[in-house]
Amino acid sequence: MKRPDQRPMHALPMLESQRGALEKCTFCPKLCRSACPVSNAETRETLTPWGKMSLAYFAAHGDVPLDASHSDPAWACTGCNACKHSCDHQNEVSTTLYQARSAIMAKGQSPAGASRVVKNFDQHANRTRHAIAELGVSNSVRRDSKTCLLTGCSYARATPREAKDAIFATSQLVGEPISLAENCCGLPLLMAGAQDAFRAQAERLRDELRDKKRLVVLDPGCAMAVKVHYPKFGIDLSTDAEVFVELAATHVARLKPLDNLPDQRVRYHDPCQLGRGLGIYDAPRLILNRLLGRAPDEFDYRREKGACSGAGGLLPSTMPEVAKQIAKRRISEHEEIGGGKIVTACASSLLSFRATAEEPVEDIATWVARGLNP
Ligand code: SF4
Ligand code: SF4
Repeated sequence: MKRPDQRPMHALPMLESQRGALEKCTFCPKLCRSACPVSNAETRETLTPWGKMSLAYFAAHGDVPLDASHSDPAWACTGCNACKHSCDHQNEVSTTLYQARSAIMAKGQSPAGASRVVKNFDQHANRTRHAIAELGVSNSVRRDSKTCLLTGCSYARATPREAKDAIFATSQLVGEPISLAENCCGLPLLMAGAQDAFRAQAERLRDELRDKKRLVVLDPGCAMAVKVHYPKFGIDLSTDAEVFVELAATHVARLKPLDNLPDQRVRYHDPCQLGRGLGIYDAPRLILNRLLGRAPDEFDYRREKGACSGAGGLLPSTMPEVAKQIAKRRISEHEEIGGGKIVTACASSLLSFRATAEEPVEDIATWVARGLNP
């Protein structure tokens, strides 16, 4: 079959490797258009998956100028993969847009929020190290332990109570004190478009983990980074990463069903990176089922069709108002079907829901820790 456009991508040659994905969207009747949380929150054609991919395609060919109005849409994506799951081609929109961010940033163009993330990254990494040092003051932690937990920066800094629950739970589940990874996985750099800096940060984490025999990862964003993105950059860790919820689900019989549960709905929200990203849907439900003594309540849009919290892909930095609207939509869905407590398994979702919801929002790590408490 003749290719739709055989001209070289002379303006953004970095995108030549993404030609297939870009062409699929550009010449598509937009079957995924209702799936995108960003274009649903801000109804502009350029913010649909088709619009973002087409703009990247035209920018790569030099058909549109690389100014903010043509390049910023590459950052208007949470990486939720909802489009991919409603696409007949299962087209890789989010990873292609991350590549587009890099190609555009390499030409000196990026939204202020993304540039800020790159500029402030060293400060971010230092703050994370401090937070991890504070979390390390615990009977569940031993610096030289060969089993290491990567909590993720958001858990360590913004939700330390949940990070402590995860540290306690992981140490109980593996049967020994654990060490804590001090380095950020670098994902914010990849989302911003700074691929070289991402690779350098990934190498730092790899070097830190060199003598570890076991790695447990709490945040699904970090788990996606080490399990999916690192291999694409040729970064090999010394050990395979286990995702925290899967570790807990493996030991579900050790969790004690909870007494005195409030008479309230407990609804599980699938984080996009854990669900559509890593395909983990059953493990958190198994844990909640055990602890509640019944299946958790569900959203109408759940599992593969679960709606995004708006917290991914750096959207809270690049388009904060749109990110808030996406979280509000999810909370409205929760309220319309009876409300109650939300349980999720991702620090970013936890934070965006807590900023929006009136009812309590908790993390699965807290539930696992409760089930392991003597
Ligand atoms: S993701 Fe699939 S359905 Fe959506 S515009 Fe691209 S090719 Fe079309
Ligand atoms: S990955 Fe999610 S946010 Fe990004 S374009 Fe697809 S549906 Fe929209």
